[in-house]
Amino acid sequence: MLKERLIAEDKIQQIISTLAEEIDADLEGRDPVFICILKGAVFFFTALTQRLHHGVVVDFIQASSYGATTESSGTVTLVKDVTVDIAGKDVYIVEDIVDTGLTLADVVALLRARHPRTVQVVALLSKPSRRKVDVALDFVGIEIEDRFVVGFGLDFAERFRNLPEIWEYVPGPEDA
Ligand code: 5GP
Repeated sequence: MLKERLIAEDKIQQIISTLAEEIDADLEGRDPVFICILKGAVFFFTALTQRLHHGVVVDFIQASSYGATTESSGTVTLVKDVTVDIAGKDVYIVEDIVDTGLTLADVVALLRARHPRTVQVVALLSKPSRRKVDVALDFVGIEIEDRFVVGFGLDFAERFRNLPEIWEYVPGPEDA
């Protein structure tokens, strides 16, 4: 069940605007490719890239998901790869939430092997207390406690992605 609204719609939009300003300043002189990690980051990705004043190339990558549980399996499988050549480019990986960091660490390693000039990470949400691997986050919207959240792209068993706000979700008997 949706337990508590943690981040209101206008607050999310405000966080994204601030991130866009920071990233815009960083984009000067770069040859950027923004890579969205599907599916969760797609709402954040479109809102963020539309606020940038620099032209950027966009692409998409999909790693395996949690399925119908709230725990990461720790092994990431690539479901969909990017289609652009990122060699020599400035890559910005855009992620919805960084929990253990395992997914992101794998995606970063995979993309680095293709010789981009730089790789940076943009995350809307981060749960630092849950981290299992040390993965550098260059731009973070907001840090949250160890709670399972849904909305603004984040799902529980593919539901709730289109909520415009972020809620804590607690699985109940209806999810068994
Ligand atoms: P990590 O590999 O960092 O443990 O997890 C990364 C992925 O797990 C995120 O991209 C997201 O899909 C999912 N995830 C982690 N924490 C949450 C959460 O609180 N809510 C939802 N809906 N997904 C989460």
